[in-house]
Amino acid sequence: MTTCLYDSDAYLSRFTARVVSVAQDADQWDIVLDRTAFFPEQGGQTADTGTLDGRVRVLDAHIRDGVIHHLCDGPLDVGATVEGALDFSRRFSHMQQHTGEHILSGHCARMFGCRNVGFHLSDHIVTVDYDRPLDEAQLDALVNEANRSVWDDLPVRCWYPTDDEAEALHYRCKKEILSRLRIVSIPGVDDCACCAPHVRRTGEVGLISIESAARYKGGVRLSILCGRRALAAAQARQRLLAQLTRRMTCGEDELPQILDKRDAELRGLKQRAARLQAEVLALGADAARARGERCLRAETQDMQAMAQAAVRLAGDGACTAGVFAGSDDEGYSFCLAGGDLTTFFSAFRTTLNARGGGDDQLIRGKTAAGWPEIAAWFEHH
Ligand SMILES: [Zn+2]
Repeated sequence: MTTCLYDSDAYLSRFTARVVSVAQDADQWDIVLDRTAFFPEQGGQTADTGTLDGRVRVLDAHIRDGVIHHLCDGPLDVGATVEGALDFSRRFSHMQQHTGEHILSGHCARMFGCRNVGFHLSDHIVTVDYDRPLDEAQLDALVNEANRSVWDDLPVRCWYPTDDEAEALHYRCKKEILSRLRIVSIPGVDDCACCAPHVRRTGEVGLISIESAARYKGGVRLSILCGRRALAAAQARQRLLAQLTRRMTCGEDELPQILDKRDAELRGLKQRAARLQAEVLALGADAARARGERCLRAETQDMQAMAQAAVRLAGDGACTAGVFAGSDDEGYSFCLAGGDLTTFFSAFRTTLNARGGGDDQLIRGKTAAGWPEIAAWFEHH
């Protein structure tokens, strides 16, 4: 069994240890030490990274039967005494996230009777799953209570209760405890079974922010950020808001109003553009009819405008005329009017791979044929 130095001192970032075994697997080395401060991946939290002997990088760490395996990018000599060094800024961020999660989950259990049924902590994301849905007001109340506990700067105690103490204790527990029961206690907030390193006092968590909430398996999945990550997210948002307000030349509070106004303007412009396209198409149909043409390509896909144009192109209705919108690659939508529509369409449908329907005044449909085939059809029918 590896002695877990992080267990008693979460702030230990450098340590010495003896190399117990080294096994090569492709371009990675599986190194076991007699003791380590590297927290292995477990309980939903990714492993610590760092170096051994100042030259071999620890890329990942796993625990199997109480033995911690360091996955490294180089070998070490068995029996040698080496110095381990953690990437402590990354580890400290993990401690901030994890203690923050305990504070949040402790309050969530107390306030809403929610059980924490999932936890994932990596370099980019922290998610916590609860077994009941929470609405916006509940989430607001929860995050406010959690941050109050941060500002109260309460002590965080990681300890091993005796059997009697464990018996008397009400603690949260996600899974069955495999080895010794370790409890993380925050007075008045939470007692929870947990093997991970935590900060000494809740104040070190800095800030707890719920970034998003989504329905998940009948409950809710929260994405949270704590400490430095919460600060970095706030800074990124500030930069984004500054960009937007500069672009819109308005204050932050005015952004929703400005966007509403722009939406309304855009809707008006789209309606106007549609009207103008319909007018252009109608004029195009008149000009084509004057030239003796019976088919026309339209810029707009607006079926009503196309139908009106088809009727104008058909003129006195002696022959069938068609208006088409689309491309040779994606096919064409069409409106047909005039002439003996039923007879015309039954032949058109078969030859030009078209489908559609309507009445004896107008037929709407789609064809996969290209424009040269369509134009040729109208020349010969
Ligand atoms: Zn935990």
